[in-house]
Amino acid sequence: MGEFDLIARYFKRPARRAALGVGDDCALLQPRPGTQLAISSDMLVVGRHFFAAVDPRTLGHKALAVNLSDLAACGAQPLAFTLALSLPGVDEAWLASFSDGLFALADAHGCELIGGDTTAGPLNICITVFGEVPVVNGQSQALLRSGAKPGDDLYVSGTLGDARLALDALLGKISVAPEVLAQARLRLEQPSPRVALGLALRGIASAALDVSDGLIGDLGHILECSAVGATLAVDEATALIAACSYSTWARGQFVINLSTDQQRTLVLCGGDDYELLFSAPPHLRGAVAAAAQVSQTPVTRIGRIDAEPGLRLVDGQGARLPHTYASFDHFA
Ligand code: ADP
Ligand code: MG
Repeated sequence: MGEFDLIARYFKRPARRAALGVGDDCALLQPRPGTQLAISSDMLVVGRHFFAAVDPRTLGHKALAVNLSDLAACGAQPLAFTLALSLPGVDEAWLASFSDGLFALADAHGCELIGGDTTAGPLNICITVFGEVPVVNGQSQALLRSGAKPGDDLYVSGTLGDARLALDALLGKISVAPEVLAQARLRLEQPSPRVALGLALRGIASAALDVSDGLIGDLGHILECSAVGATLAVDEATALIAACSYSTWARGQFVINLSTDQQRTLVLCGGDDYELLFSAPPHLRGAVAAAAQVSQTPVTRIGRIDAEPGLRLVDGQGARLPHTYASFDHFA
């Protein structure tokens, strides 16, 4: 099978929303009047972001999910995406599963594949997503990293640390029971982009981003862009590890046993969570709760924004914790 047959067979579908889809030199997207295009790219590299032997269906899901997560963080409605793919060879079973996983998530979000590039080479997947954000009275409704104000509450969606827990277990660094690993693996391999929550937080959140490299480092981006500091309630955040809410013993079997410090490290430095971290003023607590409810996404308050620069970590008693945690950095 050649390059063009491969594209036609696995990636070409009739355009619905786009003015022109796969098959010409460019795709054409018509932004609606009164909207801005939100654009973001994310690349997944074999051996770095995923294991070569990972289920291709979950890989297709994750490649798009991490990109949709960026749209979610901006409060953008997904429209379309392009797919640049480097493949070591033509493995039709692999391609069928990969494109199934990809299109299942794309269809769930009404986001269509409008173009891309296909070459031979080491397995590498680069997706660019396009989303739509309304402009109201000349003002973009996009959620940005800047905009957090002293006194704002700090929230995170969903659960934290489970993806890293699964990765550490798969790498043999920690040992967890199979049923716990199965749950945590879903978070690692099939994250749920929080698109509905991002949309519901327009006009409510003062700043937002998605947690991809780890809570501490990603929070640092909000603090830097907003020129503020924060106090983070570490135990509230650590309680969000879903795997740790399994009882320590199930069916008389050891399932999970992590020290407090290990749990804190998973949550603060873990990465791959694809949850939304956002701030909102305290008078909008009711509105945040309503946004969580309409989007059916749990949201937890885990701290507050301060005027004093820097990040302060406090435990459940309010005592200061030493700040020795760092997020993932590809070149650090
Ligand atoms: P060009 O050489 O003009 O850049 P290509 O020959 O690379 O175009 O691609 C042909 C068409 O197939 C283009 O419309 C391109 O967007 C699309 N395409 C290529 N690879 C993919 C892919 N992996 N997924 C979706 N569309 C693709
Ligand atoms: Mg061309």
